[in-house]
Amino acid sequence: MKHKKVTTAQKTKYHWYKMGQKRCPCCGVQLTWEHRASSKRSASVEHLVLKSHGGSNHQFNLLVLCVNCNADRGNSDWFEWIEKKQPAKKEWLEQKFISAVEKYYDGSSQTNDIAKRLSPKDQTSVINFLKKR
Ligand SMILES: [Zn+2]
Repeated sequence: MKHKKVTTAQKTKYHWYKMGQKRCPCCGVQLTWEHRASSKRSASVEHLVLKSHGGSNHQFNLLVLCVNCNADRGNSDWFEWIEKKQPAKKEWLEQKFISAVEKYYDGSSQTNDIAKRLSPKDQTSVINFLKKR
């Protein structure tokens, strides 16, 4: 018998579902958790650091948003998008983003390389945050 491979997206959705996430952290819509995204309220997995910027599939880099917000962000800078989309949740979401990026600052040249590929605005915000600690 063939075993279907469980994808990272499926694992992530399951994890957040089990953790009791009910709503999209950006727009607050009540999420639905069906296997395949079928509406704007479907849970979908967002990469905090975009894959195109070297973001990984590790859980620390993933967040569950509704399909609508995920599509809306597209390839936008995280900080700019949050400011525009959900200013009330800005701090919480920035924390999420920063802790995701922090994992890349482990001193190895490869991970610093990834951090360098962030958009200038995201990079500045992250560096300023790290300096304050
Ligand atoms: Zn949303």
